[in-house]
Amino acid sequence: MSRFLSERLQALAPYVPGEQPKVKNLIKLNTNESPFPPAPGVKEAVAEAATSLQLYNDLSAAKLTKLLSETYGVRENQITVSNGSDEILAFAFQAFGGHGLIFPDITYGFYSVWASLYGLDAKTVPLCDDFSIDVSAYQGNDRCVVIANPNAPTSLALPLESLRAIAQSNPDQVLIVDEAYVDFGGDSALALIPAFDNVLVVRTFSKSRSLAGARLGFAIGSPALIDDLNRVRFSFHPYNVNTLTQAAGAAALEQPDYFEACRGAIMETREWTKRQLETLGFTVLNSKANFLFASAPGMSGAAFQKALRERKILIRYFDLPRTKDYTRITIGDQAQMEAFIQAVKEILP
Ligand SMILES: *Cc1c(COP(=O)(O)O)cnc(C)c1O
Repeated sequence: MSRFLSERLQALAPYVPGEQPKVKNLIKLNTNESPFPPAPGVKEAVAEAATSLQLYNDLSAAKLTKLLSETYGVRENQITVSNGSDEILAFAFQAFGGHGLIFPDITYGFYSVWASLYGLDAKTVPLCDDFSIDVSAYQGNDRCVVIANPNAPTSLALPLESLRAIAQSNPDQVLIVDEAYVDFGGDSALALIPAFDNVLVVRTFSKSRSLAGARLGFAIGSPALIDDLNRVRFSFHPYNVNTLTQAAGAAALEQPDYFEACRGAIMETREWTKRQLETLGFTVLNSKANFLFASAPGMSGAAFQKALRERKILIRYFDLPRTKDYTRITIGDQAQMEAFIQAVKEILP
C-alpha cells in the first residue's frame, strides 16, 4: 500500500478469485467455467470482427442486443450489456444501493466488496441452518435486495414465488437477481419483469455459454432501470463491451442447440456426480447450478481440497466458520467427473 491511497480504500478487502493456474494437466473444477468450448461459429465471428478493430466498438451493441431481445422475449430498451456480469452488478450497486443493501451472509463474495468500495451500507442476513435463504427476512425492508439465484456457493435455488414475494413487499427498492447459474435448472425472475418495475435480472455468458474469458454480461429490467444503469455506464466507461466480445456473444446466441446440449450435459453429469458422492457418504446439497456444494465424510473441506490438489484436481474451499466442512466442486465433463470420483475413492479415510 502506498502512502497515496485514498483513506476510504485502505480498509478494503478485495475479492479473491479462484486460482487460475498455468500448470498443464490439471482437472480444473474450481471456478465454475464450462468444460465445453465456445459454440461453433464463435471463433470465425471473432476473427471477422477483428478486421475492424481500428474502429471503436458499437456503443449500442446493436446485433447482440437484438439477439438477446429475441432470445429472452423482452424489448431492446429493457437490456444493457456489460464487461462481464461483475461490471453490471457493480453498476447496479452504485445505482440502487444508496439506501443500503441487504443480502445473505453466505453468497457471492463480491457483493460485500462492492458495498465497501462504494461506501454503501450493507446488511447481511444469515442463511438458515440448511443453507437455504430465509425469504421473510427480505420482505418489507427499505434496502436494495441482492439475491444470487441459484445462490453461490450453496447451489440452492429459490422458487419464483419467493422472489415475487420479496419484490412485492419492497415496491420502492430494487430487487437485483443475479442469475449467473439459472441456466442449470433454476426459475428465472425474468417472468416477474412485466409486472414489477423494481426487478433487475443480471445474467452472464461466463458459465452456461462457455465465454468466461470474453467477459460478457447483461441485465434485463424495466426501461427506466436500464436507463439508470446506462447513466452509470456513460459516467464511467461507455465502450465497455469490446468488438470481439460483442461478436462472440452474438455468435453464441445464434447456436441455441449447442447451448441446450451443453447445459443438458452439465445437469446430467451433475446428477451422476451427486449420486456417486452420496453413495460414498458425502452430504451434497440439492444443486441447481453447474457445481456441487458437498461435505466429505470425516474430512474437513480444507483437507479434502488439499488431497485432491495432490492428485491434480482443483476445487474451491471457503474458509468461513459455517462452510469449513464443505467444498464447491464445478461440474466438468463426464470424463473429468469420473476421474474426480476415482480420486475421491482413493482419498477417503
Ligand atoms: C461467476 C459469477 C458472476 C460473475 O460472472 P462474470 O460475468 O464472469 O463477471 C456473478 N455472480 C455470480 C454469483 C457468479 O458466480
